[in-house]
Amino acid sequence: MSSEKLPAILGGSPVRSAPFPERTTVGLAERDAVAQVLESDVLSAFIGGPGPFFSGGPKVREFEEQWAHQYGFRHAISVNSWTSGLVTCIGAVGVEPGDEVICSPYTMSASATCALFYGGIPVFADIESNTFGLDPASVEACITERTKAIVLVHIFGCPANIDAILEIARPRGIKVIEDAAQAPGTYSNGRPVGAIGDVGGFSLNFHKHIHTGEGGMIVTQDDEIAERCRLIRNHGENVVGTSKLEDISNTIGGNYRLTELQAAIGIEQLKKLEGILETRTTLARKLDQRLQDIEGLQPQEIPRDSTHAYYVYPIRYDHRAIGMTRNLFLKSVAAELPKPGGFESTPLTEGYVKPLYLSTIYQKQTAIGSKGFPFSCNPDVNYNYSKGLCPVTEKMYEKELLLSPIVREPLTENDIDDFADAMEKVVAHSDQVVAAFPADETNDVFTPVDAAGRSNVR
Ligand SMILES: *Cc1c(COP(=O)(O)O)cnc(C)c1O
Repeated sequence: MSSEKLPAILGGSPVRSAPFPERTTVGLAERDAVAQVLESDVLSAFIGGPGPFFSGGPKVREFEEQWAHQYGFRHAISVNSWTSGLVTCIGAVGVEPGDEVICSPYTMSASATCALFYGGIPVFADIESNTFGLDPASVEACITERTKAIVLVHIFGCPANIDAILEIARPRGIKVIEDAAQAPGTYSNGRPVGAIGDVGGFSLNFHKHIHTGEGGMIVTQDDEIAERCRLIRNHGENVVGTSKLEDISNTIGGNYRLTELQAAIGIEQLKKLEGILETRTTLARKLDQRLQDIEGLQPQEIPRDSTHAYYVYPIRYDHRAIGMTRNLFLKSVAAELPKPGGFESTPLTEGYVKPLYLSTIYQKQTAIGSKGFPFSCNPDVNYNYSKGLCPVTEKMYEKELLLSPIVREPLTENDIDDFADAMEKVVAHSDQVVAAFPADETNDVFTPVDAAGRSNVR
């Protein structure tokens, strides 16, 4: 066999050695917008007390109005991160110490830890194997008289099964919070995600579709929840006496304010969102089409009348059809492609994050202080965070899910072809690869770390 045909992991020539183009996120428009704010000398106009500046300065308001307008949200409330945003949402829907909050275990940690800040106890339901979002049947099985809220996540940019979850939640008065950090501008059954439930929002950290360095945007159609979010964002204790709210619980505020500089960047970034989503969709359709010809690699099916933001592109891996462990496949594909220069040029990763309930704070039930709060609020309840709790999540993490972050701007369909060629080549030579690595049965989760030491968990 000639060396071009030999898999690169066995010493053959790789499919591609030229690096994938890096993502550039900001340009002249952002630079000019920031320069204008600098010239004005007002880098933040928030004041933590009654008056017109309680809700921020001109750029913050403009950014919020444009976001709300672009997607038809009644309220958009900027925050300094989506982690702050999630904590704000939990407070705004009235979670109290000892309340249970049903969460997904397959997401960034803050989608569940947000509950803990108000003494809420995360209860983990399993995910669906098609959307990777919360499974309505599993959610229903987790409901008790203590359930106050559900935090669902539109993970990887795919809308979760929100209608079925709302059907369970609404009649019981349970609040639904949408973590749409990875899905800005995405539609579920024709409606923009974020405010289909009671409240939700988006992350604006550097890795997300659009960003302000750090930042977040809360969205809701509910006036009272919006008011509560504004109080929590900015020292609400200083204004509750002057506002119409009678119930002042959970209105003590933090400082979760976005600066004028960030808002000015955000206004420019928002103009780019639709174009970014369009590029990613085009590349994803190309990759879908290539995967049809590779047995054992299955693209994600998008729910009906919905769109997908492709924060990352998920692929289901069938270890039996391909004949090698997911980890060996990953290493073999990596060998066919250029070495990653940054996270976004990493062609393929596996597993996503370890199911959240397996992390130490749940295993030891130690979150706020050292005495078991808030788990200790309900001494008669035995909270279960043991391995085996969510079998679908564990299967995706351990065996079945591959994620590609290279379905992104400024790549082209040719780049996607190289990526697909690499996977196709490895599959075609799986016998040879397995013969050379017979001991690779560990299936350890391989987390590529780029040159700067960043891992794929963001
Ligand atoms: C990024 C992310 C967050 C946290 O957002 P930050 O702005 O980084 O605080 C929360 N949930 C999910 C699903 C995310 O991807």
